[in-house]
Amino acid sequence: MSQALYRKWRPARFDAVIGQEHVTRTLRNAIASGRSGHAYLFCGPRGTGKTTTARLLAKAVNCLHEELAERPCNQCANCGAIAEGRFLDLIEIDAASNTGVDDIRNLREKINFSPSEGRFKVYIIDEVHMLSTAAFNALLKTLEEPPPHAKFVLATTEEHKVPLTIKSRCQQFNFRLLTLPEIIDRLRWIIEQEQLSVEPQALELIARQGSGSIRDAESLLDQLVTTPGDIISLERAQMVLGTASNEAVSALVDAWLAADGAAGLRVIHDALASGADVRQLARQVVDYLRNVLLLQAAGDEAPLTLPDGERERMVLQSRQTSREALVDAVKAFNSAALTTSSSWQPQLPLELAFISLLPDEPGARAIPTRPSTPPETSATEPESKPTAAETLQSIRDPQTALAQEAETPSAQAAPESRPTITLQAVRRQWDAMVARVGQKDRNLPPLLAMCKPLGVEGSAIILGFEYGMLKDKFEDRGEARELVASNMSDLLGAKCIVRSVVTAQYTPPPEPQAGKPTPEQLDTLVDREAFYALAEELGGQVRES
Ligand SMILES: [Zn+2]
Repeated sequence: MSQALYRKWRPARFDAVIGQEHVTRTLRNAIASGRSGHAYLFCGPRGTGKTTTARLLAKAVNCLHEELAERPCNQCANCGAIAEGRFLDLIEIDAASNTGVDDIRNLREKINFSPSEGRFKVYIIDEVHMLSTAAFNALLKTLEEPPPHAKFVLATTEEHKVPLTIKSRCQQFNFRLLTLPEIIDRLRWIIEQEQLSVEPQALELIARQGSGSIRDAESLLDQLVTTPGDIISLERAQMVLGTASNEAVSALVDAWLAADGAAGLRVIHDALASGADVRQLARQVVDYLRNVLLLQAAGDEAPLTLPDGERERMVLQSRQTSREALVDAVKAFNSAALTTSSSWQPQLPLELAFISLLPDEPGARAIPTRPSTPPETSATEPESKPTAAETLQSIRDPQTALAQEAETPSAQAAPESRPTITLQAVRRQWDAMVARVGQKDRNLPPLLAMCKPLGVEGSAIILGFEYGMLKDKFEDRGEARELVASNMSDLLGAKCIVRSVVTAQYTPPPEPQAGKPTPEQLDTLVDREAFYALAEELGGQVRES
């Protein structure tokens, strides 16, 4: 394809601009009655036709066709020159490429000269909100006293950044995002013109990916066209666009609703293994959940165009959960879509988003609860494991991590005489260990946030991961186990090793809790775990009476 599709098939007439009839009708009427304004402000999302419409306006006011209503005719010399980009009186300024002071100064110097070949000099200033204050002020003076032969079209994706003083001088038009059927129709038309073969499902996927921007959708179609004559299948579209199938996205939502962690992680894993892009997949899930939310809120009235089967499935899903839970899920996946993942384990943000939405219950049964006896050495130190967010925060801010570490003297947990490792001590040192490890390997703390110390067997600390995949990830990470063990050993003042398990599959060694200790025993055995660990270390047995 020698020329980009969106350039090649750029609308040449007002009625070919799709989705913005409210704008083009008004402009056409103004042209037909010979009363076009001198300054326009086109607002709206990218790729919705603002620049295209601005060029049509430039053509129309300079068109040589005798019938006003026929302008632009696309046949006269001026229409041709504009179409070919060689019309001297059409001046396009991209405010995004610089702050525009020089451009605007240049504009003010030359604007009073008459047009060289057309009736009007037309200035199109794209992304006008990017102009500096100085440039805005210069532009404002021009807009206040424009020469009769000048016309302005200011375009912006961020209307709120355009000063009111500028807005008040312009006729404003708001361009809207296109609907899915509008984009599909347009793509179908281009496909016919180009004689391409595209499977309907692939076509829909491309249209969806455009997210309301016709230019984006056309560019995506462009990416998929290689040689004329071959068929663009759904599979190929998914591969090239890095998207997962709707089926996969729907299955992931099912897994979330069923609180089936293993199934959900498998879907993520499979989708990424078959070429889906992780942020793209997160966006697809957000898109999907949004639809479920709309269906839950508005039922059949929801303004959605979905294939029948998909709609039914979404309606069923919408009945299985609360609005709050759906909103939380949208937020979690949206944040994963915005997170730039590290090169190792790029799927982690998505997995974290998914896992964070699972209820605590399934894994919680195997996770030891907080010890009933509060640790006697420290009352200020947090006992619980940091959340993923807290851990990530401490990595971003090493000062905080160091400060936290400084507040945690390792002596607190170090036993008096003989080094003994207890679960309580491990939990007390957990934050400090994660902070230390994070100094060596920034990527390890997020993974450690996915596990909990479950118990201590001799000198082995048992780390429980909710899912086998995460456990494998920890084990595959060469020095991770060693880093955790050596730092924990330092903090505990006792040599320890680390064993990783899947939480649900871990059976703690039988705890001799059958007989309740007498009050006297409780007095002496403040730290029962330490006592049992000590007994085990010494090869003895605790006999309950
Ligand atoms: Zn013409």
